[in-house]
Amino acid sequence: MKYSIYSKKEVITDMYIESFQKRLSKDGFEYDNENPDYVFFLGGDGTFLRAVHYFIDKIDTIKFVGLNAGTLGFFLDYNTAELDSLINDLKNENYALFEYPLLKAKIYSKKGQKTIYAVNEIRVESPFGSMICDVSIDEHYLETFSGNGLSVCTSLGSTAYNKSLGGAIVQNDLKILQISEIASIQSSVYHSLNSSLIIDGTQSICYVGQMKNLIIGFDSEYLEYRDSVVNRILINLSCKKIKLIRKTDHNYIDVLHRAFIGNKEK
Ligand code: NAP
Ligand code: MN
Repeated sequence: MKYSIYSKKEVITDMYIESFQKRLSKDGFEYDNENPDYVFFLGGDGTFLRAVHYFIDKIDTIKFVGLNAGTLGFFLDYNTAELDSLINDLKNENYALFEYPLLKAKIYSKKGQKTIYAVNEIRVESPFGSMICDVSIDEHYLETFSGNGLSVCTSLGSTAYNKSLGGAIVQNDLKILQISEIASIQSSVYHSLNSSLIIDGTQSICYVGQMKNLIIGFDSEYLEYRDSVVNRILINLSCKKIKLIRKTDHNYIDVLHRAFIGNKEK
């Protein structure tokens, strides 16, 4: 069993990593940063996002498992004090393996074509002036959008940026795409849905226009298109999947309660 570790340096000490690695090698795990079977990510939800992007080229062969060091995470069921029980669960295969498709965008600009992937969402934003584009779903014209931008999230990303935009929280097993608007203009000239839209995950979303000065955010990453016009962006769920190990008693409502309501169990 080959493994790698991806940690949030600000909160995880070298001493913790050292004792973690000793413990793993005692149990027959071998360190391999090139082709790991398991990636242990230590920190918070953002640490998971960064670990996924770091290993994106090998994503199909990796099982991710998170150790939480602080805030109650959506992607981390164990905490850093539960090392023994995590290792026992792995050895006995006493865990639940969740698979989620990654979000994918193909960006077409004068620079050529670029493909990006995301766990949470893809944000197409124009902070320097409004962005105008035609929005279609499976080649059916929906609207001409004008405003600061559009975010498309997965069910996993529904509790992140999408929630701040007023989008709905979506139970994580559902394969959907949710489009949420960022400061849309509603006038006699421009009008869009002006509410979040959830569509089936087999569909694709397309933006077409002469989009200038874009910043395209995807999870913790971003691309800048300052000098290059983007003509077309195609977004859908990818065949690439992330595999996430969770406790057998993992329950989404429990996670929502802990994250957004409080810590008191009824
Ligand atoms: P960050 O600025 O540290 O993230 C903002 C917060 O979002 C953090 O508390 C992070 O948790 C949390 N988060 C990340 N994924 C989440 C999920 N799926 N459900 C619920 N909360 C989640 O940046 P980051 O750590 O690099 O994470 C990038 C993500 O942050 C982006 O994908 C975007 O969704 C989100 N974000 C949100 C806003 C906003 O709501 N206005 C603004 C910027 C970015 P941890 O503290 O555990 O990392
Ligand atoms: Mn963070």
